[in-house]
Amino acid sequence: MPVQPPQDDLLPEILAAIDPDETVALARDLVQIPSVTGQEGLEISRFMVDWLERNGISAGLQHVGEQRANVYGQIIGSEPGPRLLLNGHLDTKPGDSMIIDPFGGEIRDGRLWGRGSCDMKGPVACEMIAMKAIARTRVPLKGTLLFGSEVGEDGGGWRFDDLIDGPCACDIGICGEPTNLELHVGCRGFYPLRIHTIGRATHTGTAYAGINAIQKMCSVVLALYDLPCFHHVDPIWGRNPINAMIIRGGGKVSSSVPDECVVQFDIRLNPDLPPEEIDRIVRAELARLQSQDPELKLEIHIGREGSESMISSRAASALPLEDPLIRDVADAVELATGRRPKLAGFPGGCSASPMLRRGIRAVIFGPGDLQQAHSVDEYVEVEQLHQAARAYAAIVYRTLVAPVPSGSS
Ligand SMILES: [Zn+2]
Repeated sequence: MPVQPPQDDLLPEILAAIDPDETVALARDLVQIPSVTGQEGLEISRFMVDWLERNGISAGLQHVGEQRANVYGQIIGSEPGPRLLLNGHLDTKPGDSMIIDPFGGEIRDGRLWGRGSCDMKGPVACEMIAMKAIARTRVPLKGTLLFGSEVGEDGGGWRFDDLIDGPCACDIGICGEPTNLELHVGCRGFYPLRIHTIGRATHTGTAYAGINAIQKMCSVVLALYDLPCFHHVDPIWGRNPINAMIIRGGGKVSSSVPDECVVQFDIRLNPDLPPEEIDRIVRAELARLQSQDPELKLEIHIGREGSESMISSRAASALPLEDPLIRDVADAVELATGRRPKLAGFPGGCSASPMLRRGIRAVIFGPGDLQQAHSVDEYVEVEQLHQAARAYAAIVYRTLVAPVPSGSS
């Protein structure tokens, strides 16, 4: 049965305060201010603070480095209650390799085009518009509504912790990363496995007398891809992805059998596959291969070269499915858009992960398709921006205006 709003309903008033054209215009304004990760500059942050303050929301800059600042805003309620954070990063990937104008903000074919349109200035604009709708209608809040947007998420020194340890300390977090308007209940973990195979070099003319480390690695890669844990399909999270991401080997001396090969795997972990478990499975499989092939010599390392965030493995972070926040957000999205979102897991990392690890109840919901993020012709559907702004406002409504008592359904 579709979810019904309560009788004394303020939701229509809140939703009526949202101007869909303004949502798209704001998203476009944000796209047109470059803020490449690590060198965001202050223009974007100042623009966001000015916009929030102009619309009746108390806001400020949190300086976190030379010409870099997180943005925060807040609306304090009239009654005590939880602190709800609407969050999204303000930095983007670089635009150099794009085949469209990265900062043009063109609107064509029902889409807003440009770097960050999808990941994630479009979602951030929708959150800001929802903040404005709450401020304009002056609906009484049971709790505090927070907005926080940070620098560095896309690889330039992420400063999200400064927000949640500071002005955006919260109890509930909505990360607005693109989920195609579905509801993602957490982030996968990772297991950055690196395997070296060690062979024996000889002249190519007597290759049969050597041990080819690349050939040995082939059997290792295929065996790992065949492991049942990578084929089981979880109804919410799908499969655990395994990706042989980088291979290096051979070429030390011409006309010779390579004596070394290295593969860096990027393995992502659903909640049902903790790092200790995958580690046990991988080591058992490699031991099995070695018992069948006495010439297979290898070493295992955990960590990704050149990535400070992946020096060890990490378990998935997810909100338990029985947590009422999942019901509340799904209800809100349905009230705002007429469509109940499907539950899924976010395929990559995002701010929900640090929030969940700290005990903040967090989910991911946003407009746009993650496949568009970082792409050479990034865009977001204008219609999804319209829907998301309404949905964020409805999430605030369901959480801070007309919360459903816990225990009821
Ligand atoms: Zn992102």
